[in-house]
Amino acid sequence: MKNHYQILIVGGGNAGISVAAQLLLKDPNLDIGILEPSDKHYYQPAWTLVGGGQFNVADTVREQSDVMPDNVEWIRKYADTFTPEKNTVITRDQIAFTYDYLVVSPGIQLRWEWVEGLQETLGKNNVCSNYSFDQCTYTWDVVKDFNGGTALFTSPGTPVKCGGAPQKIMYLASDIFNRKGVLKNTNVEFCNAGKVIFGVKKYAKTLQKVVDNYGIKANHRHDLIKIDGPNKKATFKVTDSEGKTSEVVKDFDLIHVTPPQSAPEFIIHSPLADEKGWIDVNKYTMQHKRYNNIFGLGDATNTPNAKTGAAVRKQAPVVVQNLLALMNNLPLPAQYNGYGSCPLVTGIGKLILAEFDYEGQPAESFPFDQSQERFSMYMLKKNVLPWMYWNKILKGTA
Ligand SMILES: Cc1cc2nc3c(=O)[nH]c(=O)nc-3n(C[C@H](O)[C@H](O)[C@H](O)COP(=O)(O)OP(=O)(O)OC[C@H]3O[C@@H](n4cnc5c(N)ncnc54)[C@H](O)[C@@H]3O)c2cc1C
Repeated sequence: MKNHYQILIVGGGNAGISVAAQLLLKDPNLDIGILEPSDKHYYQPAWTLVGGGQFNVADTVREQSDVMPDNVEWIRKYADTFTPEKNTVITRDQIAFTYDYLVVSPGIQLRWEWVEGLQETLGKNNVCSNYSFDQCTYTWDVVKDFNGGTALFTSPGTPVKCGGAPQKIMYLASDIFNRKGVLKNTNVEFCNAGKVIFGVKKYAKTLQKVVDNYGIKANHRHDLIKIDGPNKKATFKVTDSEGKTSEVVKDFDLIHVTPPQSAPEFIIHSPLADEKGWIDVNKYTMQHKRYNNIFGLGDATNTPNAKTGAAVRKQAPVVVQNLLALMNNLPLPAQYNGYGSCPLVTGIGKLILAEFDYEGQPAESFPFDQSQERFSMYMLKKNVLPWMYWNKILKGTA
């Protein structure tokens, strides 16, 4: 294995593989290395459907070796330390790699440990989460066997990947409870650290109707801080409109937890981070604000868009065009407009396709009102997008 690459990429997830594949389509002679420790590659957006019993978990994972573009060198190691002044990344096992240009895309870190008692009880006592490959099938186990009672669905106060996912599983579960005839004996509550159901008004209006139709109680400003699995109690920090906080304990029969999330620990402690720990990039060009030969994209950056694969799809070509321009000493030509998308599953066979930009303005792809629940958009999520991911996005052609 060599120790210097023209372009070094940290993280071979959705973003890293997309960028590598697109770069090589533009110039097959580029010398690219990808630091990626995982031997598996996941299609995470389908975990929502797995938890609702509508998708096979085995179809959400492939061997990392199968998605690595040809002509890329896969370095199966964890990046650990950055010395940007020396164009160097040091791995966890203390190997130094140097580069001419660096692309950083290591995703987001799940912080199960920030909720007291969660790690001990996750996957037991009807405490489930779609936020991990290992856990999302347990969500389906508990949803399908649920016979009524209190079902809580939480959404934390930190940034999360796919901000809609905490409620998508709530709607799917409510639909399934309804079909089984147990919804009428069930108290479904959305315990959300945020202040509103959804940040973009156009979609929030329809979602409020969905919430009302299922009879869901929305508890905003409720942040999960503790779980006692065996006794089925969840503690929330509640902040009132004046900023005063108190604690509320709720009994549950089922709880779906969206864990708090942060930038990866090794990024937080690196010179690439902003004051909150995220990779500090220009939100239009995706170039690092202090190191010209570094670009960042995906969930780990501080760009204020919805952290989604849909955003990555629009960021990757911007990074590729700007990086190639920089290599040729040209001005950076491409700009990202903050596009993000959230396919909000509202039940089996129903979906609102929210698409919006940095300003929270709808940026829709189809010539119809996407704030309406549609079967066609559900099929897009269930069948078309997974196919596109494996066959087009990871190949750099979409
Ligand atoms: C339940 C759920 C539902 C979702 N639903 C949707 C949806 O409907 N639509 C949508 O667009 N998006 C959705 N997403 C979000 C989407 O999956 C992410 O936004 C997307 O994967 C981000 O890409 P990324 O490359 O930044 O991160 P990832 O794809 O997570 O990849 C990060 C990679 O970095 C690697 N890495 C980590 N640490 C290191 C290190 N130290 N050194 C080197 N490599 C490292 C990891 O192994 C991983 O391969 C969902 C996510 C979840 C969990």
